Amino acid sequence: MKTGFCIKTIKYQLRCSHAEWFVSTEGYYRDVLNFYYHLLLHRKELWNLNTFQMQRELECLTIEGRDGRKPVYPLPFSKVPLYFRRSAINKAIGCLKSHLGLSRSADKTEEYDSLLPETIDASLTYFKGMYREFTDTGITLKVWDGSSWHWMECRLKGIPFPANAMVLSPSVVPGSKICWLHVPVKQETTDARNAKERMKSGDNICSVQFTNTDIFAMCCVMDGNGKQLAVRTCRGGDAYRHQCRRLLDKIEFSRQYTDKDNVEQPNKKYYIHLKNLSEYYAHKVSREIVDFGVENKVKVIVLPLYHADFSRMVQYRTGNFTPLHLSSRIRTYLKYKAWEAGMIVLEHSADHTSSRCAICGGTVKKQGSQYLCENGHQGSRFLNSARNLGRKCQEDFRKKRGCSD
Ligand SMILES: [Zn+2]
Repeated sequence: MKTGFCIKTIKYQLRCSHAEWFVSTEGYYRDVLNFYYHLLLHRKELWNLNTFQMQRELECLTIEGRDGRKPVYPLPFSKVPLYFRRSAINKAIGCLKSHLGLSRSADKTEEYDSLLPETIDASLTYFKGMYREFTDTGITLKVWDGSSWHWMECRLKGIPFPANAMVLSPSVVPGSKICWLHVPVKQETTDARNAKERMKSGDNICSVQFTNTDIFAMCCVMDGNGKQLAVRTCRGGDAYRHQCRRLLDKIEFSRQYTDKDNVEQPNKKYYIHLKNLSEYYAHKVSREIVDFGVENKVKVIVLPLYHADFSRMVQYRTGNFTPLHLSSRIRTYLKYKAWEAGMIVLEHSADHTSSRCAICGGTVKKQGSQYLCENGHQGSRFLNSARNLGRKCQEDFRKKRGCSD
């Protein structure tokens, strides 16, 4: 079977004796990074080279050669270690390329300048040579104290490295209280077939309906012939709504005391709670859906897609901090979690999925969270929509994309 890979970032708390050195190291890094970035902005003839060629050209322009060749733009900093510089050059190139890519796809013209940022505020990515003794409990990092380099031992707090994962270059992200080490890990996925191949071989699919009730997501697993194999309701919507409302009440209540304070955002801690709460539930629900899919040998997850106008109207009516509002975050998390577990996420038009009966195709009436079909069928209307969505997706693949043979 075809295999692929996915990269995810694991965050570790960094404990060390001189956290302030990370701030000076990052400052120094940004100086070098922006020096190279500005050089790149002036040298448009380099823009179409690949990353490796660009890196070589930038080094030739700024570093003295072994043969004594003088650089045209000598690097105006002393004591820049090789892999510190390489990391900065790489990031400068990466930023430029990603901005060029964005502006190109936006309107296909050659007008880049207006969209390019003037400076880049990036965190330091540690290339090999800048760190050693790296495990999931500790790392020794090369840090700049403002005048010289030191090796500093740090302890790490976080989850163990996943088995069979390749650990890539970590980045240090200094915070106001806690410093973080972001560690990208690369894992192989067991199944890299595309959606068409999966649908064609009749793999199990799981269709999902998001709701604004206690049920965050109604999931329905079907085999390749549309036969229902399992159903799961991911709950917690009411608890989420309730906890959010309590925080929003606190914000509202504190407003009368803090409105005239000369502080940027006096209720910041409540907003941070809200954000954490949303992340927590979005992770929990997306994890539950993925685990349910794995249990039932699902290869494709199908999510409903709505017209932009309809989505806007629904969002407006349901409001922020509601179960349905959280569904956009759940979708985002689902996509990478599913891929890690060998599943693909498809978004398929939800047109007519809630107006017909999944059993007989008759028209249906809504009654709260139930549906009633003209031929007497009834049950959960969310499950009815999920079933219809799954079958519609299967039919669509059979008809339009030649998966019928
Ligand atoms: Zn019916």
